[in-house]
Amino acid sequence: MPTLAVAGAYLHHKTSVEELLRKRLPDWTIVRPGDAAAGDACVAVCWDQPRDTWQQLPGLRMVHSIGAGVDSLVRDPGLPDVPICRVIDQAQARRLTEYVLWGTLTFHRGFDIAARNQRELLWQRPANRAAADVVVGVMGLGEIGAHMARALAAQHYNVRGWSRSPRTMDGIETFSGADGLGPFLQATEVLICVLPLTDETEGILSRDLLSRLAPGAKLIHVGRGPHFVEADVLAALESGQLGGLLVDVFPVEPLPVDNALWRHPKVIVTPHMAAVMPMPDVVSQIAENCERLLAGQPLLRTVQRASGY
Ligand code: NAP
Repeated sequence: MPTLAVAGAYLHHKTSVEELLRKRLPDWTIVRPGDAAAGDACVAVCWDQPRDTWQQLPGLRMVHSIGAGVDSLVRDPGLPDVPICRVIDQAQARRLTEYVLWGTLTFHRGFDIAARNQRELLWQRPANRAAADVVVGVMGLGEIGAHMARALAAQHYNVRGWSRSPRTMDGIETFSGADGLGPFLQATEVLICVLPLTDETEGILSRDLLSRLAPGAKLIHVGRGPHFVEADVLAALESGQLGGLLVDVFPVEPLPVDNALWRHPKVIVTPHMAAVMPMPDVVSQIAENCERLLAGQPLLRTVQRASGY
């Protein structure tokens, strides 16, 4: 009987992950890293796995993330040299897109300002500009970012995108690499970050980057917490260089109650809710790769370890 280990406290709270795996893979033994049979595991299913996970799983042939992001795997120095797979889910891309559409509309139509004014009993109309006149920049044009960019363009926004390698998208101006970053940022009024967390992108939402946006630009951040240099973002909000922030991901989650972002009048904090994937779909993708592994077939949705995503 092949054995699969589920690693990560979050997954152990979500007992449904183990139950769903047992149902979907009835011929597999499902264990946790500390269990007696863990040494037999050929697959590990992970999310924020503890550092000592790998020494308890010496027989791995595949490591599978339960999410789209793989930063906590690829950046783990103990990760064994086996294929890494992730989940790519259209429903998740749609949910994240709903989130950024709401954020973009909120900032573009001034609903954030109207909500602040209501608290002050202030009747004051925010500017009312056509979507086509608003430049929206999407950082990361992968499975999720490309979906967002198309949806924003369908709402008539003036959309541009930035990726590591050059990409072509109908109706969307694209930029790539370090050379493309400056031109991408210049004139961007709503910046959306949906990058993976890698050595290159950690701390990218910094004072330098924010200073290159259009004055008063808004930031929507759904990537990963460590993309964000909090002191720089707060300073940009104070100076007015940044006119608003919608943020879903933080270096420490839950966001500590004494964090200044909670109470900042120009910040909307959401509790990592932009997209929650339906767990049966996640498990189905994992199971498919488990079956492929046993059958000696190529694995799906593999990650390039060298690029970090
Ligand atoms: P993906 O398909 O791997 O795409 C990543 C995109 O980022 C690609 O376009 C890639 O460029 C670009 N990129 C990577 N490194 C770059 C760099 N150094 N400079 C410029 N562009 C760079 O990833 P995805 O599935 O769209 O997911 C993206 C991220 O969204 C995840 O890693 C995760 O952090 C985040 N996420 C958040 C939530 C949430 O609930 N908040 C949920 C799911 C995912 P190339 O096209 O050239 O490869």
